[in-house]
Amino acid sequence: MAWGFVRGQKYNRRQDIHARFGGQQQGGIITPANHNVIFIMTGKRGAEYGYDDIHYDDGRIDYFGEGQVGEMQMVRGNLALAEHVANGKDLLWFEKAYPERSITYMGQYICAGWRRGQSKDRDDAKRSAIIFELHPIENVVEAAETIELPIGNMDELRRRAFEAASLSGVRGQSMRTIYQRSADVRAYVLARANGDCEGCSQPAPFMRRDGSPYLEPHHLRRASDGGPDHPRFVIALCPNCHTRTHHGEDGAIYNAALLKRMPQIEP
Ligand SMILES: [Zn+2]
Repeated sequence: MAWGFVRGQKYNRRQDIHARFGGQQQGGIITPANHNVIFIMTGKRGAEYGYDDIHYDDGRIDYFGEGQVGEMQMVRGNLALAEHVANGKDLLWFEKAYPERSITYMGQYICAGWRRGQSKDRDDAKRSAIIFELHPIENVVEAAETIELPIGNMDELRRRAFEAASLSGVRGQSMRTIYQRSADVRAYVLARANGDCEGCSQPAPFMRRDGSPYLEPHHLRRASDGGPDHPRFVIALCPNCHTRTHHGEDGAIYNAALLKRMPQIEP
């Protein structure tokens, strides 16, 4: 579940999303101004307009960006998609059914990068398309957890973490590097905490098997904890504080308070 949507569940119409979140009524990429979330609306009929999204067995999707005529530009929805990690925004994928027009929530994705390719536009003319490489967030999380965290001094870890957050907007990334980027952010945030919870300031409650203090990276602006994210939106928490943000009665308030404190934690 993310943003109140249950995966695989059908929702009435696209209009219901606009009623809750606002955002553009037209086009495949919806970027609500007041929410840290981006919605992708896609469906088989899109292929008529040259949006031939490609689905792979491992869950990866090659998603064709927006722009119905001429060369696709890295602006508006396309730019928002490319930079969603750096901007701390979730990416939710919906599929439209035709002709009944219901929409189904398919899950949350991470944009690993993009490339240029060919497609046809609405007028059947060949044009340069932007193709985004999207991965299901759970694939990124699982793999990143098993990657050994990089070691180095704070400056080096910080530099790598900031680089990891900005790379989505860069052409030509791959799955391997998205795992690594996720690990780079985790490593730095844990090093930054230096053994104490960044929420309640108490020491980590126990040590990991490798002797390092046990804290959990929590993504303050996103619905789930995983994938690369900007270090200013990720905080290292003890299990109590972390569980509180997700399941506490005052979870949303506590989360907002932590977010407010981030400029001091990550200037
Ligand atoms: Zn704590």
